[in-house]
Formats: sequence, structure tokens, C-alpha cells
Amino acid sequence: ERLVVNSSLQSYTIYMEEKSRFKIPKLLKKEYSSILIITDTNVAKLYSNDIVSSFPHDKVYVVVVDAGEQTKSLDTFYYLHTKAIEYGLDRESLIIALGGGVIGDLAGFVAATFMRGIDYVQMPTTILAHDSSVGGKVAINHEKGKNLIGSFYPPILVLYDTDTLKTLPAREVRSGFAEIIKEAMLADSDLFDRLMSVSLEGLTLEALNLFIYSGLQIKIKLVEADEKETGNRKFLNLGHTLGHALEAKLGYGVLTHGEAVAIGLLFMIYVSERELGASLPTETLIKWFKKNGYINPLTLDMVDELVEIILHDKKTVNQKIQMILLRNLAGPIIQPLEAKKLKSYLQ
Ligand code: NAD
Ligand code: ZN
Repeated sequence: ERLVVNSSLQSYTIYMEEKSRFKIPKLLKKEYSSILIITDTNVAKLYSNDIVSSFPHDKVYVVVVDAGEQTKSLDTFYYLHTKAIEYGLDRESLIIALGGGVIGDLAGFVAATFMRGIDYVQMPTTILAHDSSVGGKVAINHEKGKNLIGSFYPPILVLYDTDTLKTLPAREVRSGFAEIIKEAMLADSDLFDRLMSVSLEGLTLEALNLFIYSGLQIKIKLVEADEKETGNRKFLNLGHTLGHALEAKLGYGVLTHGEAVAIGLLFMIYVSERELGASLPTETLIKWFKKNGYINPLTLDMVDELVEIILHDKKTVNQKIQMILLRNLAGPIIQPLEAKKLKSYLQ
């Protein structure tokens, strides 16, 4: 499958094809002086040789960083710049981000800043990264909050070899599905119903491909309409107000991003019901999360600190939290919420 993302900075193609990792050079529109593949320890073991050997010339370098959310840090960012300089990358070099959203966000931000910006390719290898590899948001975390240091910098190409998803651990499958559920709740109630009718265990690659493809279409539509997130792209942050705060509070990597978003979605529903009188498939979703092994470590003693973190979030303006809520399925709305109310809902 082939999808195009129109961006004011540069339009790019998403190739979604099994085994496409073996034919990257063919998909590039020009010769690069050298290539730096950035990946993590888990993905390197499985796939980095396939990519390296797909290139005929030898100026292909691989840098492997630790797997996990902690790696989206200023330290690793700086380390990668050091490696890029040591390998002699120049403005005609290419970076390939081979991995999940952590690698995509991190390597994309390195590409955005190395010599004021060089080309990069997103090669997502997780389900979740169907979301993060599209739309050009790249970032690293600050101890005080997720993705606080970053940029908008689209890739020249997204190459999604869904064959790589076969090696994903179950927990990462759950994580990725939380974002697809988010997309469905935002824009496609049929997709939501289809999701609720499957069980993650034993899902075929064919079914998975279809879900990802539907998710991608929703993501592309929202991103194209509002690249710099001044309006409706914000809807993609559904469930992320609490989700991001939980990740920061518990320590990066304790929950997967999707696990945190799943909890955030349930909280969003709770608030939507109370603020907007929305009627949403709450029970269905709770049952589905439970059946598929999602966890909820949220406890009452975390509330104060979570409110603090949320108040420092990018989504907060003048002490009012801009929460994305649902009037109904596929009916998102941005609603300012006072800190006091947020706190009482969390409790
Ligand atoms: P991740 O990159 O940490 O990958 C999850 C785990 O799976 C890692 O341990 C990784 O090594 C392993 N892995 C990756 N591919 C594998 C494969 N094919 N087989 C086996 N193991 C594999 O996490 P993620 O869930 O992909 O991404 C989460 C990140 O994405 C978060 O930092 C989040 O903030 C970010 N994100 C960004 C955007 C955006 O628009 N930029 C959107 C959503 C999420
Ligand atoms: Zn997310």
C-alpha cells in the first residue's frame, strides 16, 4: 500500500509493504554521501543487517542506543550528534530511524538539528509507530515532561515493513493498539466496533495490517489539515493529558506509551460523561482493556503530582487544561478545564 502525506515543508510517501526493508535504496530519490542508521538494541539484533546489506556502498553506519523511553534524552541526542560528526556525515547524508516511536522521535530530532537539518527516513517497526512516524513531530523528553524539546520536521519517506511486527512482544502490541483505538474514537466508530470485536492474542498479520492502515488514514487526514497543531491536530492528543503525565510521574519506561494512553482514554471518557453528558461505550472499552491484559497502576496518592505535571504540559494555557473530550464517538472537542476540576475528577 502506498499513501501520500502532503506537508507544507515537503510531501512524502508512506510505503507499507512486507519485506520492504530489503529494498530501501530503490525507494530513495537520490544518492546520499553516507547513511547513518539509528536503532535500538532490540531492533538492531533483528533487522539492522537487512538494511545495511541492502545498500551497495560501504558508507553505511549503524549506531545502536539503549531500548526504551529513557533513551529519548538530551544525553543520547548529544551522543548521536557526536557519532554523526565522527562518521563524517555532511549535509548530503541520510539518517534512517529504524525502530519504534522512541527511535523515530529521537533520530528525527537529530536529523532536524544536525547541520541545521538533513534528510531522514522513518522505518517504523512497532504498531505504535504507525502514529509517531507520520506527521513530522520529533522530540526528546525533559525530566519535567514528555516531548518538551523538539521540532516539526517531516521525513522524506516512511517505509513500513509490517513483516517486522511479527517479532513484537505482546506488551508492545497492546501499546500500539491503544493509539489505534484513540484514532478510532476520534474519527471512525466502525473501526472502533471492529477493534472491540477482536482479541489481540492470535490476531492475524492481515487483520493487523488493516487496522494499521485505517489508523494511518485518520492520522494523515488530521495532520494534513493542521500540520503545526494550531487546531484540529490537537485531537490526536486524546487520552494524552493524563497519559503523558503518568509516564512522567512513574518514570519513563515504567508504562509503555500505549498503556499510559489507554488509562488516559478512560479518564477522558469519565470527564466527557460529566462535563458534556456524553454517552460513550465505556463498559465495552473497559472490558476490552481487561480482556487484553492492560494494566492500571493509578492510585489516589498520585493525584496531586499528576495535576502538577499536567499544569506544566504543552497543552495547558493560562492554568486551564485544554482537554480533548468526546461529545460522542467520532465527535471530539477541545474543552478548557480548571485545575480544581481536573483534580476532583482524578480523585
Ligand atoms: P519503542 O520505540 O520504545 O518500542 C517499544 C519496544 O519494542 C522497544 O523495547 C523496542 O526495542 C522494541 N521493538 C521495536 N520494534 C520491534 C520489533 N519489530 N520486534 C521486537 N521488538 C521491537 O516505543 P513505541 O511504542 O514504538 O513508541 C513510543 C514513543 O513514541 C513514545 O516516546 C511516544 O512519545 C512517541 N510517539 C510520538 C508520536 C509523534 O507524533 N511523534 C506519536 C505517538 C507516540
Ligand atoms: Zn501517543
